[in-house]
Amino acid sequence: MNATTITVPQADPGAGYRAQKDAIDAAVARALASGWYILGKEGEAFEKEYAAWQGAARAIGCANGTDALTLALRGLGIGPGATVVTVSHTAVATVAAIEMVGATPLLLDIDPDTYTMDPDELVAVLDDPPPGLPPIRAVIPVHLYGQSCDLKPMLEACARHGVAVIEDCSQAHGATLDNVKVGNMGRVACYSLYPTKNLGALGDGGVLTTDDQTLADRIGAIRQYGWKERYISADVGVNSRLDELQAAILRVKLTVLDANNARRQAIAAAYDAALSGGSLAAPMRRAGAGHVFHQYVLRVSERASLMARLRAEGVATAIHYPQPVHLQPAYAGRVAMGPAGCAETARAAGEVMSLPMFPEMTDGQLGQVCEALRRLV
Ligand SMILES: *Cc1c(COP(=O)(O)O)cnc(C)c1O
Repeated sequence: MNATTITVPQADPGAGYRAQKDAIDAAVARALASGWYILGKEGEAFEKEYAAWQGAARAIGCANGTDALTLALRGLGIGPGATVVTVSHTAVATVAAIEMVGATPLLLDIDPDTYTMDPDELVAVLDDPPPGLPPIRAVIPVHLYGQSCDLKPMLEACARHGVAVIEDCSQAHGATLDNVKVGNMGRVACYSLYPTKNLGALGDGGVLTTDDQTLADRIGAIRQYGWKERYISADVGVNSRLDELQAAILRVKLTVLDANNARRQAIAAAYDAALSGGSLAAPMRRAGAGHVFHQYVLRVSERASLMARLRAEGVATAIHYPQPVHLQPAYAGRVAMGPAGCAETARAAGEVMSLPMFPEMTDGQLGQVCEALRRLV
């Protein structure tokens, strides 16, 4: 192996900081000087601004995206004795969050074209739940890679069965379905603010949104020991707070989220053009979906060799995700799957490859990737 210098990284959160360095440095200085570091003015302002941007009644900050999911589940009273349906083709955090609250995950297969939950299989397990599992109380659809799930039939089936929908929007801040933002269609939505996400902190962070004021109040209390008033726990809670430094940074980053998503879409369009006429198909777009390209994902049968050839051109790629949750050592053999199994999930894990994708990519870097794609695929 020769050590080629990578000139186009797969993601570059440092570039996101440098692009707004003055504003972020000023925000950090303001937060530091305030003398108040947890759940203060910056956090409140971020929650108001994020709710307004999302078009939701309320936003609640928390420590990370995994916790956002656990807070949503706790807020809905879902724990031991409940099954929560999601997919195996996701960040392991989605499944980990279900077990963190003591509920039982049930993992369904994906639609192979868009990598999101197969809605027919969801309808099938809701109509005829697999034996031996506690009752299904919630579904967590994951809007993977920046594209909405096929949510309409899922929402209908969940409404019919009285099952809560918790949208995992960790990769889809600003994505839409029929012009409605994802996160506004379920009962509550959860977003990671991990540095590489479409809206990324410079550390850990998470946020939830909902139109349900009572649920928002409950989640707001649970994230801080269950306090409604200081030192008095009305409910059993946890500690999962967004700190003032991250909130101040996120307020700056939120101002460029729409522009950054537009840049991701422009990069995707350039990749589409570079691939046209070649041997690999561009990612499928779901009809009616506004894709925000958290990742630009190709299916490649000779994946290792293409990754190596791109690397030799200075272009880094990544695999999201190399091993499905149901095959990972911590979960294999004990986690429940739908009656159809997870064959498409396993196949995708062996073939998916993510090209460089970050909004600060220069036109020079983009041209370099496109030129390599035209030559190599
Ligand atoms: C990143 C991510 C999470 C977890 O977020 P953290 O902030 O790392 O806890 C959950 N779900 C999905 C789909 C993610 O991409």
